[in-house]
Amino acid sequence: MKTVTTVAELRAELAGRPRPIGLVPTMGALHRGHLSLIGLAREASATVVVSLFVNPAQFERSDDLAAYPRDEERDGALAAEAGADVLFAPPAAEVYPPGFATTVELRGPLTETLEGESRGPEHFRGVTTVVAKLFNMVGPDAAWFGQKDAQQALVIARMVRDLDMPVRIEVAPTVREPDGLAMSSRNAHLEADERERATSLSRALDAAGATVAAGRVDADSVLAAASAELERAGVQPEYLALRSAADLSPVERVNGSTLLAVAARVGRARLIDNVVLKGSADPSTPAQGGEPS
Ligand code: AMP
Repeated sequence: MKTVTTVAELRAELAGRPRPIGLVPTMGALHRGHLSLIGLAREASATVVVSLFVNPAQFERSDDLAAYPRDEERDGALAAEAGADVLFAPPAAEVYPPGFATTVELRGPLTETLEGESRGPEHFRGVTTVVAKLFNMVGPDAAWFGQKDAQQALVIARMVRDLDMPVRIEVAPTVREPDGLAMSSRNAHLEADERERATSLSRALDAAGATVAAGRVDADSVLAAASAELERAGVQPEYLALRSAADLSPVERVNGSTLLAVAARVGRARLIDNVVLKGSADPSTPAQGGEPS
């Protein structure tokens, strides 16, 4: 695996490599979730690029940015083992040179709700701007994102469609710890007792799935089942919301493809998780609960 830190080096490196090129954008502190994305990109691509950039523009809190775990050497070894051909690890000044003044902003309900509402408009503006830049730098045929950040994946797919970017967006299932906790770089911030309480997020999603499987598909029943699990662990959600999995519009019942999304602070860590619930459109026929994806 070749590590490059400038756009010029990246382009020179990729000029001699075969297509299709697959890109996996990350902020480092790689875990099995990231590695699964790299593995999927490897299967579908002749050349796999992993980017490693802790993007200051998408952090609304400077303490969160400062505390973000960084270990480039370890990340490089893991990315190589998972099948990356090129690691692109630019310094901030390479991505945001002096005088940088252009942003990509997706407006409307997709970015104003859930994470956009909790973290402010700069969060998704930071995400869309840096991902658009990475697409321009790498020129990938396809890019892999995690369902763990379901809203982010929807936002990026919409940006690509709206701006006619020639890249295919692939969304990979959420990878979990054996006890259900979704893998996240932020789990490193959890103390032992918080680590235990953090499992209430995935338990809440499971409880919602069981409620749907038992045929109760109305939003109140599904949300009550999920809330009860969080409450039991003393976890207060920033949001717990049932939305259309296609466009995040609010839904009154699990109907077709419905996203249950949760965000909560546990200790110093801000955690998010979600599940796609498949309900029946017809209340007289049995509904099905989806597995946490
Ligand atoms: P991050 O480094 O947190 O920005 O994540 C980089 C990519 O990995 C994003 O597309 C995330 O959605 C994805 N990702 C993060 N955690 C997981 C996970 N537990 N399972 C699958 N994908 C993940």
